[in-house]
Amino acid sequence: MVATRFAPSPTGRLHVGNIRTALHNWMLAKKNGGTFLLRIDDTDAERSKEEYVEAIRADLAWLGLEPDGEERQSERLEKYEAAFEALKTAGRVYPAYETAQELELKRKIQLGRGLPPIYDRGALKLSDEERAAKEAEGIATHWRFKLDHDEPISWHDGVRGPQKFDPATLSDPVIRRADGSWLYMLPSAVDDIDMGITHVLRGEDHVSNTAVQIQMFTALYAAQHEVQQNPPELAHEALLVGKEGKLSKRLGSLGCDAFREKGIEPEAIVAMLARLGTSLPVEAIADRQLLLDTFDLSTFGRAPAKFDDAELERVNTAIVHAMTFDAVKDRLPEGIDAAGWHAIQPNLSTVEEAGEWWRLVTGPIEQVEFSDEDREYLAEAADALEWGDDPWHAVTAKLKDSTGRKGKALFLPLRKALTGMNHGPDMGELLPLIGEEEARARLKTAANL
Ligand code: GLU
Repeated sequence: MVATRFAPSPTGRLHVGNIRTALHNWMLAKKNGGTFLLRIDDTDAERSKEEYVEAIRADLAWLGLEPDGEERQSERLEKYEAAFEALKTAGRVYPAYETAQELELKRKIQLGRGLPPIYDRGALKLSDEERAAKEAEGIATHWRFKLDHDEPISWHDGVRGPQKFDPATLSDPVIRRADGSWLYMLPSAVDDIDMGITHVLRGEDHVSNTAVQIQMFTALYAAQHEVQQNPPELAHEALLVGKEGKLSKRLGSLGCDAFREKGIEPEAIVAMLARLGTSLPVEAIADRQLLLDTFDLSTFGRAPAKFDDAELERVNTAIVHAMTFDAVKDRLPEGIDAAGWHAIQPNLSTVEEAGEWWRLVTGPIEQVEFSDEDREYLAEAADALEWGDDPWHAVTAKLKDSTGRKGKALFLPLRKALTGMNHGPDMGELLPLIGEEEARARLKTAANL
């Protein structure tokens, strides 16, 4: 049974990058009949806000990515404490005393000597007396996870293929701050084990975290005497960048509110993000099952996925053009029925524009000036109008015969007189919606202006 999770920190709104991660985790779970868990990573009590938790839930619901369950790290602190104690007993966690300034200085010296800025394990080299002295001085202790340098790290990444790390090239990560609060790394590994997560899919900015967490998984299995398990399947997708190919600040703040405001449908976002950065073409596919059928991590590329607003707008327009009346009816202005939707739909790039086009039916329309000749023609049209199943084709056929006009000369003055515009919905569909009396009145008004 596949179990995935989406693990945002509620320190802000979701942006298009983490929406994409959420979507892919949802897809990975749903494609395999599995579960998709929302895990709120709120160990940072100061920066985590309830309003963001609520916004994350609302955004996921709007996108149709409802989780099958929700967990909160702030409610699981005793689990992390237990794991921490177990790792301490196993010698995999050690206290450290350097201040941020000291660490920074060490880094600068290493860099100055052309060395990689890896933590030098200074705290591990302290004697018991030195450690006691630090503690007596009241220096606050933070805690690091001790990587096993004899245990090479490797995994087969679902996107990146075989991955290898020499643990000696990594710093022992700080897992707990001096104030007792947790950094992301250990709680996440504890949760992935406890919650039976089978697949961790996240951005490639987490690759080096994964390297460390692989040893954490192993250490936790051993320390907590769990039945020997393997870490979850791990996959890291290439990052999302702006269309110029760079990490973009704008994308970091582009979220559901902005999409909604621009009239972008959730189905358009889903269709685009489902395939962006894969070898599959981005298409306006509103049917999620179809997207799920073709979802496959092996189609994910290593190159950054380029997010282009114009592409999203194109997908959105195509999605809107394919929406059924039933799907939109609750969002349409009063009076638009199935025939009305059908008439104006091809002119829309967003559902919200329906109101503007519907004004062509309800009026008032813009008044257009005509030449004397056209005014005469329109007066004739007002008389020729007769109401049947297809009044537009009836009246234009009649006028063609009686006036000899054809093409643009035949149609355009009528369209302009009837709608106030020189382009727009199909007149054959629009005229019955305008209605006989109103149509005649508009033609007469135009004829007499
Ligand atoms: N809270 C972490 C983040 O937002 C979760 C990363 C993960 O998926 O493990 O970066």
